[in-house]
Amino acid sequence: MTFQFNIHATDGRARSGEILTDRGVIRTPAFMPVGTAATVKAMKPGDVRAAGADIILGNTYHLMLRPGAERVARLGGLHHFMNWDRPILTDSGGYQVMSLGALVKMKEEGVSFQSHVDGSKHFVSPERSIEIQRLLGSDIVMAFDECTPFPATRERAEASMRLSMRWAKRSRDAFLLDPAPALFGIQQGSMFEDLRRESAEKLMETGFEGYAIGGLAVGEGQAAMFEVLDYAPDLLPADKPRYLMGVGKPSDIIGAVLRGVDMFDCVLPTRSGRTAQAFVLDGTLNMRNARHAEDSGPLDAACPCPVCGQYSRAYLHHLIRTGEILGAMLLTEHNVWHYQMLMQGLRDAVVAGDVAAFAKGRLERLAR
Ligand SMILES: [Zn+2]
Repeated sequence: MTFQFNIHATDGRARSGEILTDRGVIRTPAFMPVGTAATVKAMKPGDVRAAGADIILGNTYHLMLRPGAERVARLGGLHHFMNWDRPILTDSGGYQVMSLGALVKMKEEGVSFQSHVDGSKHFVSPERSIEIQRLLGSDIVMAFDECTPFPATRERAEASMRLSMRWAKRSRDAFLLDPAPALFGIQQGSMFEDLRRESAEKLMETGFEGYAIGGLAVGEGQAAMFEVLDYAPDLLPADKPRYLMGVGKPSDIIGAVLRGVDMFDCVLPTRSGRTAQAFVLDGTLNMRNARHAEDSGPLDAACPCPVCGQYSRAYLHHLIRTGEILGAMLLTEHNVWHYQMLMQGLRDAVVAGDVAAFAKGRLERLAR
């Protein structure tokens, strides 16, 4: 089982490199489209790959409820089931158990909850989360943790972080009984630098193939998130991938790459594609807007994606207005391309040593 992170270039705190796995190379900084229910919504896997994605994310919580991890395993694992042969990272389920499920009880052993789908009762512990992720056949397994809600008092943040660190150790022990290529630990500690430091130290004592920064993008806002990212990535090992979970808008990603983050995931490009929002260099376009009704130009003249090459804004507007499925499909495809092109631009800029200028140029256009 290969899992090797090679940093090819650094520019300030930004890094560019590759993660080598048996299922392919993950170029970093990387953006992972979210494949919640064994599908990147409205896209076929071949089109996700053609957009430039090296890895996608699968959600443990959704897949354990439907169709069930054991069923996916009997059907040959998640890669085979969904026809995606490249790397998959699975989250631990913790975040969604606590945000979507009706939380029944959280205790040291794990979390009891009711399914948001049918009200059925479930229990997830660090050990069960790792087992589910192994049944799915994940390449990058995430430690089970509690995503500390925001805002949190210092006492709440400390207790939550320490619980997550005990769960991280239990996740590691369970993982080593049946290892996959990689298990990532998740740093918590809310907005408190000393708690982030303690969390990083505890994770490094246990030892992981990569490290995530959790508990951000939970409503604190970009300025507060960047305050934490001013120090949090540097508390983690320099030679391991750093993954900022659930982020984000293009400007969030640019700012986080400048601060040393290597991996991202977010529903934004795909969800926006289903709500008539298209990402372009100057921000987002609402394709419902009547101003697009007779615009025969592409969504984004600079975008190399098949949608911009073949369809007009007027047609996309028509599809959205008439509620045609193809509208969501095409906007999603363009948005996934847009994000992957942003990542390629960031990788190239780090290698060229001008990531600060690249970031400034992109942020200025977004701010217009
Ligand atoms: Zn496009």
